[in-house]
Amino acid sequence: MDCIFCKIIAGEIPAVKVLDEELVLAFMDINPSSRGHMLVTPKKHAENIFEISESDLAAVIKAVKRCATAVKEALKAEGVTVLQLNGKASDQIVPHLHIHIIPRWENDGLPVSNWEMKPGDMEEIKGIARKVKEHIPPSS
Ligand code: 5GP
Ligand code: ZN
Repeated sequence: MDCIFCKIIAGEIPAVKVLDEELVLAFMDINPSSRGHMLVTPKKHAENIFEISESDLAAVIKAVKRCATAVKEALKAEGVTVLQLNGKASDQIVPHLHIHIIPRWENDGLPVSNWEMKPGDMEEIKGIARKVKEHIPPSS
């Protein structure tokens, strides 16, 4: 499979690794949006949150907690954004699930979480929640 992150996991192309464990690899992003920007991936290929098993995802998010804690301490970050994209419409570029860990500092101005806050229509919000509840799959 022609997947750049699978190639990193297989050691076929280099990466600056931070955590290398049975199910999970964490490595530094080569286009960091802030100092310390890193990615946490499952070793088993899964394109996105819809495809990955709950157990692999659990391993990934546990590693995210540990790496976020480490980078916050190492760089004295004031905050950490944890971000994960699914599909082209959400700006996912690499189709191998990964969670971004982005250290943040006050007033760093990174455009990752500053959407305009304006109140929604409560009836519409409730209608959407009703529909979503009908589609929640069982836990596996
Ligand atoms: P996304 O798919 O969530 O939009 O982001 C993909 C991320 O992977 C980007 O932040 C990009 O800089 C990073 N990336 C893409 N190719 C490589 C690579 O070969 N090595 C590393 N370390 N990061 C990469
Ligand atoms: Zn892959």
